[in-house]
Amino acid sequence: MANVEEKIRNLKVETRAYINGKFVETESTLKKFSSRDGKILPEIFLCGESEINFAVDSAKKSQSAWAEKSPTDRKKILLRLADLVEDNREELALLDTLETNRAFQNYYDDSIPKAIEAIRYFAESIDKIYDAAIPARGNESGIITHMPLGVVAAIVPWNDPLVVSAWKFAPALLMGNSLVIKPAEQSSLSILKVAELTKLAGIPDGVFNVTPGLGEVAGKCLALHPDVRGIFFTGSSETGKLIMQYSGQSNMKRVYLECGGKSSYIVTKNCNRIAESARVLAQNMFYNQGQICSAPSRVIIDRSKIDEFMEVLKVEAEKFVPGDPFDSENKVGCVVSREQYDKIQNYVNEAKSEGAEIFQPSTRKFLPDQACGVLPTIVSNVTNDSKISREEVFGPVVVILTVDSTAEAVKIANDSEYGLAGAVWSDNFDEVYSVTKNLQAGLIHVNSYGNDDDSSPFGGVKQSGIGKDKSIYAFEKYSDVKTIWIHHEENL
Ligand code: NAD
Repeated sequence: MANVEEKIRNLKVETRAYINGKFVETESTLKKFSSRDGKILPEIFLCGESEINFAVDSAKKSQSAWAEKSPTDRKKILLRLADLVEDNREELALLDTLETNRAFQNYYDDSIPKAIEAIRYFAESIDKIYDAAIPARGNESGIITHMPLGVVAAIVPWNDPLVVSAWKFAPALLMGNSLVIKPAEQSSLSILKVAELTKLAGIPDGVFNVTPGLGEVAGKCLALHPDVRGIFFTGSSETGKLIMQYSGQSNMKRVYLECGGKSSYIVTKNCNRIAESARVLAQNMFYNQGQICSAPSRVIIDRSKIDEFMEVLKVEAEKFVPGDPFDSENKVGCVVSREQYDKIQNYVNEAKSEGAEIFQPSTRKFLPDQACGVLPTIVSNVTNDSKISREEVFGPVVVILTVDSTAEAVKIANDSEYGLAGAVWSDNFDEVYSVTKNLQAGLIHVNSYGNDDDSSPFGGVKQSGIGKDKSIYAFEKYSDVKTIWIHHEENL
């Protein structure tokens, strides 16, 4: 699509909150600037305490009628929503590009289709899941059933706005909950468009609400609200810890957290596919400017393989040089904001000043003035103690650590507060088995990365989070298990 810019100019953008089936204005708005060209972006209406109370109240009033619908009825509505999202795929990709400056083509080809697939996956599953009964015995029977929590809230980040939202709103609604979703300040437009589509799909007023706002205002109000029964958060570990506190300070609402990562990518001396391992690393690390929670940002590689790996990785990095996000020829755009750009540069500059070797590709693509495009960056000659090896940079920056044994690789991999994802590249089965068993991470890839689909549970251990998104396991989180114990007498 050659005219992305013109299409973005002609977009009709909804910036108001969606509460109780209507778009509503609030008292204040947020001024934001594009990370593509510094131009002003549409101002989003910010929700405060009164709008959050209104949204939760509307969700509460509408929840029981929604929960009384059969799973098959809710499934039909969510499948209609998936179709509507698909019909509006281009507009949704344009809205996300406008706000976040990830490449349009990437949203269109990859991100929006993944959100659609997720809604369909959950919708198609819901009427195939059974409750349970206790083992049969004399005069006692027991039914173990799942009850919706009631009103739940989702708080989501900006790096993949619709995919992360769909992973939460689809299972939440299908389990019979009503929902208030707070998008990130940086990316509220696409979920507001989806709100419009929920009405067309037949989701009753009040069941699905979108309350854009500041994290420390709207997000905090939701997390403290006494009528919200579950909070489903994706974002930084720092904010995740606050959410746990808010739950403790209020009504002990269920808390599920999908947080940050510093995922390890182990390449052992028994890996015979070094070129492929470097190519897959580049694809998963530099895609979306490295703004991916599960990005394999720490390569831990056997000394005997480092030269070949680096040679290929440097060539592959050239393919992920940032370009104009509005140019459909580009698969990589800019980072989300000037603030994020500066944060990434600070990490790299600090590592450099401490003696790290920095490689960046020589290729350059056209970018508008003030564009916040970050070059793929390979950082070596650092130890696992350095800040850049330990903290989540959330940019296209990969750290290379060299080791002399696979045991040392696993030790370094586990020496992290994070445990979201990981990989092992090896052609020795026993080694693969041992590494996967010992690596502390929620999702481990073997001789691959990032190709898991909706059927795989996704979520971290340690400070990468609590609970799983995706897969039928996700439904558990949106319900309380209730046991009904029945005593009965024989009367035949
Ligand atoms: P963030 O924690 O700053 O913000 C996430 C959300 O929390 C936003 O909606 C924000 O407004 C809200 N928020 C901020 N402060 C709050 C508060 N005090 N109370 C309630 N809500 C508050 O994270 P971010 O910078 O938007 O996103 C990047 C982070 O998200 C990275 O750490 C990344 O790894 C993580 N992430 C994790 C996953 C996963 O599945 N594990 C997926 C995507 C992103």
